[in-house]
Amino acid sequence: MNKKKVIITGVTGQTGSYMAEFLLKHTDVEVYGAARRTSSSSFPNLDGFISNPRFHLVSMDLGDSQSVDNLVAEIKPDYFINLAAQSFVGISWDMPEYTFEIDAVGVIRCLESIRKHVPDCRFYNAGSSEEFGDVQFTPQNENHPYRARSPYGAAKIAARQIVKVYRDSYHLYAVQGLLFNHESERRGPEFVTRKITMGVARIKNAIDKGQSFEPIVLGNLDSMRDWSHAQDFVLGIWLMLNQDETTFWNVRESKNPVEQKRRLAFNLKEYILASGECHSIREFVELAFKEAGIAIKNVNPDKLPPSFNPKGVQVNYTTEEGAPLVVSSKEFYRPAEVDWLQGDALMARTLLAWNPLIPFPELVRRMVVNDLRLLEKS
Ligand code: NDP
Ligand code: GDP
Repeated sequence: MNKKKVIITGVTGQTGSYMAEFLLKHTDVEVYGAARRTSSSSFPNLDGFISNPRFHLVSMDLGDSQSVDNLVAEIKPDYFINLAAQSFVGISWDMPEYTFEIDAVGVIRCLESIRKHVPDCRFYNAGSSEEFGDVQFTPQNENHPYRARSPYGAAKIAARQIVKVYRDSYHLYAVQGLLFNHESERRGPEFVTRKITMGVARIKNAIDKGQSFEPIVLGNLDSMRDWSHAQDFVLGIWLMLNQDETTFWNVRESKNPVEQKRRLAFNLKEYILASGECHSIREFVELAFKEAGIAIKNVNPDKLPPSFNPKGVQVNYTTEEGAPLVVSSKEFYRPAEVDWLQGDALMARTLLAWNPLIPFPELVRRMVVNDLRLLEKS
C-alpha cells in the first residue's frame, strides 16, 4: 500500500522541524519538508532527520503561487501542514503588507492548490492566540472573540476566515488550530524567551571568565503569556488533522461519500492548544537566571510603569553588586500590546485526549541548558 504523504511548510523553523521529527518517529508517512530558497544551505533544525529516507526536502515560497501550486500538483499530498509564516509579531508593524502577503494571502495559495489538485487532502493552518488581541475574559477559550492588536494578529484572523470559507464552500478538510505561545531550544533569537536564555548564557559565560558584560535589553516585562514547549503541540496539530469522522453521528448516518464529506467539513473543530498557566516576562527572567546559578536583585520590585532615563532605558535587575543584568528599553515596546494570554484547552483535552507534558520550569531549564551548551561549543 502506498504510504501517505505529508507536506510540512516552515520545516526549517521551530514547530515545523518538531512536526517532521514527530511524524518520522511515530507514523510511517512520507514527509515533504518545504523550505524557501536562502543564501545558506545549512538548516540546523533539520540535522536530526535530514538523512532519513522518508524525509524529502523540497522548495516552496508562500509568496509565490506557482511554487505552491507546483508542489501540491507534483506531490499530491494527503496532508498539508502550513507552519510557514512571518511569525514575529514585533516586526509586523514594520512589515504589515508583507505579513498579510505571507500569513493571509499565502494561505489562499495553499487552499486554492488543494482545491484544484487534491480536494481530499487535509489542511492545517497555524492560528495564534494573537488573534484574540483585546482580551475579553480569562482564560480564553474557543468562544473568545477575535480582536487583533497587531498586523500579525489581523493577518491570522484573515487566514482563519478564508480557511472557513474553503471549508464551507468546497467541503475541504481545512482547520486552523489556535495555539498559544510555544517555545523551545529551537525558538528564534528575536522572541523574548530565547532572547532571555541566550542573554543569560552569555552573561554566565562572562561571569565565569571574570569578564564584564552588557545587560539583556528587553521591552515590556509585565505582559503575561501562556508558554508551552513546541514538542507538546505537534501531537495536538496531528490530532486536529485526524478528527475521527465516526464520532460525528450525522457523518455516520449518511452512506453517500459526497454528503459524508460535506457533513465532516461542517463538524470539524478548531481547537485551542495551551498549558492553561500564565507567567510574566519577569518570572521567565527570574527563573532563567536561577537555572544558570546567577543571583539577581530586582531593583524595580513594585513593577512601576517604566521611568526611562535619557538613554530610553530603565534598569530592572542587577547582580548583588549592582551591575545591570536586565534593562527595559523603549525600543522594544510595541505600539499595542496583548497584555494577558492564558488559554483554556479543555476542549482539546476532552475531545482529543491531548495534554501538554513539559511544564513551565522544565521549558525554561531546557532552554537555558541548551544555550549554555551552545556557548561552550562555540
Ligand atoms: P518560525 O519562525 O520558527 O518558523 C517559520 C517558518 O516559516 C520558517 O521555516 C521560515 O523559513 C518559514 N517561512 C517564512 N516565510 C516564508 C515564505 N515566504 N515561504 C516559505 N516559508 C517561509 O515559527 P514557528 O515554528 O514558531 O511557528 C510556526 C507557525 O505557528 C507560524 O505560522 C506561526 O505564526 C504560528 N504560531 C506560532 C506560535 C509560537 O508561539 N511559536 C504561536 C501561535 C502561532 P526560514 O527558515 O527560511 O525563515
Ligand atoms: P509573541 O507573544 O508571539 O509576541 O512572542 P514574543 O516572544 O515576541 O513576545 C512575548 C511578550 O514579550 C510580548 O508581550 C512582548 O511585548 C514581550 N517582550 C518584552 N521584551 C521583549 C523583547 O525584547 N523581545 C520580544 N520579542 N518580546 C518582548
